[in-house]
Amino acid sequence: MSETKVRIQDDLYRAVNGAWLETAVIPADRPTAGGFSDLDEAVEKTMMADFAAFAAGEKTSDIPEMKYAVALYKKVLDVDRRNREGIAPVLPLLEKLRKIETVEQLNAQAAELLLQGVELPIQMDVTEDMADATRHAFIVLGPGLILPDTTYYAQDNPAGKQLLAVWTDMAAKALAFTPLTAEEQKQYLDDALAFDALAAQKVKSQLEWSEYYKCHNPQDVDEVAAQVAPFDIRRLLNDLYGEDAPKTLVVYDPKAIREMNGYFSAETFDLYRHWTYVRTLLRSTAFLSEELYALGRTYRRALTGVAADPALEKQAYQTASMAYSEPVGVYYGRTYFGEAAKADVVAMVKKIIETYKLRMHKNTFLAEETKAKAIQKLSAIEIKMGYPDEIKEIWSKLIFDEDSSYFEAMQTIFAIRGRDKLDRALKRVDRTEWLMPGHMVNACYNPSANDITFPAAILQRPFYALSQSASENLGGIGAVIGHEISHAFDNNGANFDENGNLKNWWKEEDFAAFKELTRGMVEQFDGIEFHGGKVSGELTVSENIADNGGMGVTLEIMHTLPDPDYPAYFKNWARVWCQKAKEEYIQLLLANDVHSPTELRANMMPRNFPEWYEAFGVTESDGMYIAPEKRISIW
Ligand SMILES: [Zn+2]
Repeated sequence: MSETKVRIQDDLYRAVNGAWLETAVIPADRPTAGGFSDLDEAVEKTMMADFAAFAAGEKTSDIPEMKYAVALYKKVLDVDRRNREGIAPVLPLLEKLRKIETVEQLNAQAAELLLQGVELPIQMDVTEDMADATRHAFIVLGPGLILPDTTYYAQDNPAGKQLLAVWTDMAAKALAFTPLTAEEQKQYLDDALAFDALAAQKVKSQLEWSEYYKCHNPQDVDEVAAQVAPFDIRRLLNDLYGEDAPKTLVVYDPKAIREMNGYFSAETFDLYRHWTYVRTLLRSTAFLSEELYALGRTYRRALTGVAADPALEKQAYQTASMAYSEPVGVYYGRTYFGEAAKADVVAMVKKIIETYKLRMHKNTFLAEETKAKAIQKLSAIEIKMGYPDEIKEIWSKLIFDEDSSYFEAMQTIFAIRGRDKLDRALKRVDRTEWLMPGHMVNACYNPSANDITFPAAILQRPFYALSQSASENLGGIGAVIGHEISHAFDNNGANFDENGNLKNWWKEEDFAAFKELTRGMVEQFDGIEFHGGKVSGELTVSENIADNGGMGVTLEIMHTLPDPDYPAYFKNWARVWCQKAKEEYIQLLLANDVHSPTELRANMMPRNFPEWYEAFGVTESDGMYIAPEKRISIW
């Protein structure tokens, strides 16, 4: 299909990407092809060549931690050893779990198990305290589920049943590798499924999680302890921290904690212990023999529609770059990201923030004092561009024994990182820390730090190139930058102040006006049919507000360019969202992802802006027209 067959006024996405969509092939080991995915694939290819050269001794890095990453890379590649050892490396841990027969025994070992990556009946983590961004909070929530969301457990959800069958079959095959008798294997599996089904009735849905500011529910440790008994959280905290144990915990999922006896009690303890045995086994397959690796990915392949697993060299690179993400990201940034590009994009971010302020001044639904606070928040945003200047100390401590198996090496790395994470509960927040490594094709806003991060890997074509026109860069990375900044003022971010603290800085009537506009955005997307499913306006509202803000602010900058090219702006916006995806993956995202499908991101947002209508002479008779009174521009 050529660009001329579909009129741009009817379907921007297809007019720009049609020819590509006709011919593009999704790589066998990926759920998608297109914008983000192709860039990611290219970064991976570059880095895999470098890792191969490091491993062969043809190349060295002046980043000391890279030698551990390369050592791990080699462990993954050592399939002779992996295949010879089979399931053996994980057996001591599984045997330890098998012997835990009472809640008392679990309580006595919980701290140790936590650091071994064993799932306890509730999940725990340490993160920034929403109420005071200088400090950390020890958070608690319910257990993770087998299926992607609670909604999959509904009687009338066919995908849920199908996926659970795939998981059950995979787990049964994995259990057959263990020393358990056939009878025990069946019992463990039945109990694991029973525990999961009970937990699914208590934990939050993805829709509930999407309003993340509601996670802040601090409770006294004794209050939490009473709810989660007979699980002894006080003992666990004492074993982890001694006298310094946190006195206040933040309950991220209150119902899952309050009603914990619905899935965990002394009477039903077998369900939990068999569930965690099976989950530990399945998690470990990633680091065992090739056969177990492939088996352990069966469910994930079904979930995403992916046909094949990554080739061995890719597995090795993926594991090493995940385990040593910061040093690998710094290596990528220093090697492939130029200072000229960095300076150029930082200048663009500053320009976008300044333009955002101008728009705040002109805002029609906020009182002056609220505007002033919003502008203060914009002024305080910190920019993290490319990759960090220095590598944090923790990464130099991730040292595993040279003789250890792949599985043992990973356990060592997880344990050191896990302990480091837990220790943070007693420390102040380090604001210079990066949430994303340099080699990641993504970007983010952190409401607790009021900062934005743009890894080096996303600062490439089609998002950005020094050789692209200013209009193209604004439609690409500019709109993404504006998107991330808008998260400071989406339905979640708006609840945090300029220091990243959960605090209401709005006048009541201003917040009500904002809520009203938010409702409009929910309605604009809600119920749109897509691949047999429907978009949830509520689930995707924060991201749609961010896209709306990102487009609004970059179009404002377009007006100030000496030679603005609006068609080029919109075409590059559509190019960035170009994607071909496996049907299973589309359905997975539709039900769980806070982002709208990329095709809709490309085609829905432009119609809210007059520039779109002018750029291509779009009128009432065109597919991408909406009446002026239905157009929304929030920020
Ligand atoms: Zn976003």
